[in-house]
Amino acid sequence: MGRLQKILIPSLGLVLAFWFYSARDTFKPEMLRGKRVIVTGASTGIGEQMAYHLARMGAHLLLTARTEAKLQNVVQRCLELGAASARFVSGTMEDTAFPQHVVREAQTSLGGLDMLILNHVGASYFGFFDGDVEHVRKLLEINFVSYVAMTTSALPMLKESEGSIVVVSSMAGKVGFPFTVPYSATKFALDGFFSSLRQEFAIQSINVSITLCILGFIDTERAVRAAAEVLRERPAPRDECALEILKGAALRRRELYYRYSSTRLPLLLRDCAAELLDYLVRSRYRLPAPPGA
Ligand code: NAP
Repeated sequence: MGRLQKILIPSLGLVLAFWFYSARDTFKPEMLRGKRVIVTGASTGIGEQMAYHLARMGAHLLLTARTEAKLQNVVQRCLELGAASARFVSGTMEDTAFPQHVVREAQTSLGGLDMLILNHVGASYFGFFDGDVEHVRKLLEINFVSYVAMTTSALPMLKESEGSIVVVSSMAGKVGFPFTVPYSATKFALDGFFSSLRQEFAIQSINVSITLCILGFIDTERAVRAAAEVLRERPAPRDECALEILKGAALRRRELYYRYSSTRLPLLLRDCAAELLDYLVRSRYRLPAPPGA
């Protein structure tokens, strides 16, 4: 038994290491050259960085968010970086007609679609759940229902191109996080919808990949403003994060974890030691001392 363990464990380690590193190495920027891509939430943060990487790779870009002035700048920069083409549609995902409008624009201006990157996120608060049900409803519309609506409208084009759907989610969509209850709920919903949809694609032999991206703390302005004071960990760089998402998407991975060490590894505890994982999540925060302490 002892000898078996001595052989089995290192061999398993070698197989896992080989699988992990070989999967990483097969990405080539040419994979995305000439691809027709929608990026939502592209005016700032991770979405903006994904637009720049895609531009360098020579993709055709359709970007969207609410703030027209920022989108104009991002489009201009994408053209300078080498995008095959770049344009934007501005509007809010609170408007239930907007997702379909964006997809129709892709059909008209790009003549089809290879990749749909769903990345936008509505503003929420950082603090104990305040009981505001209307806020939860609104956030679900922006962070979840509009993702479903974009996917539904884009599916005919994606089936035709055998393309990809990229869903940007969070550790907060895999394990309970304090202080972001409405946000976490919307991210869990994404996992349920898109993981189930992936199963149906497999049953129906629909060759459209779905990559669910599980991100840790990233150094975007919004996230740093909200959480840098209370989180003990350092945020990871948004440009590297954006590139990892695109690699995962191009390789048609089912899930992408960034950074691996602060997302995938702790999640290994979820099924065997859930309370320990909850404790580790809470220990990431600088919590105020309880009253009277
Ligand atoms: P961000 O910098 O706040 O950017 C959010 C984007 O969404 C912006 O382009 C914003 O543009 C757009 N947006 C906001 N409300 C909108 C609305 N109602 N309709 C349409 N677009 C809207 O966010 P980020 O930090 O880059 O996050 C990107 C993704 O990564 C999100 O899905 C987020 O949940 C996920 N994530 C981020 C972190 C992190 O630490 N940063 C961690 C885990 C997961 P406008 O304001 O111009 O509309």
